[in-house]
Amino acid sequence: MSIDTGRMLPEVTPESQAFWTGGFEGELRIYRCQECRGWIHPPVGACWRCRSRNVGPEAASGRARISSFTVNHHPWFPAFPPPYVIAVVELDDQPDVRLTTCIVGIDVDAVEIGMAVEVVFEEHDDVALPFFRPVAA
Ligand SMILES: [Zn+2]
Repeated sequence: MSIDTGRMLPEVTPESQAFWTGGFEGELRIYRCQECRGWIHPPVGACWRCRSRNVGPEAASGRARISSFTVNHHPWFPAFPPPYVIAVVELDDQPDVRLTTCIVGIDVDAVEIGMAVEVVFEEHDDVALPFFRPVAA
């Protein structure tokens, strides 16, 4: 993440472009190995499992569970007034694939480890940030 005029926006690389822009079409795009079908994140040019270089972005389910989280109370970014929840979520597609994200749409005191969440995108100029919100019961 880099700080750009008070907003927290990612640096987009050739590998991460699909991840940061898939949200404009409602898709959480995660790299996937085309040989062993394993998901890979952060996106890199080769599979760490089978070493294949035949990897590329695919739409994941967008469903996940909260693995760990912290409540931030410091006003680091003007666009994100505290308190807000920074979390690591495990993708339902493959739980050893984890994303660091923000949890939205819920009171910060109600967030729990193991909570089922789904992706929601916050669109900025060139990127759609993937955040997660609780799945409606
Ligand atoms: Zn592989």
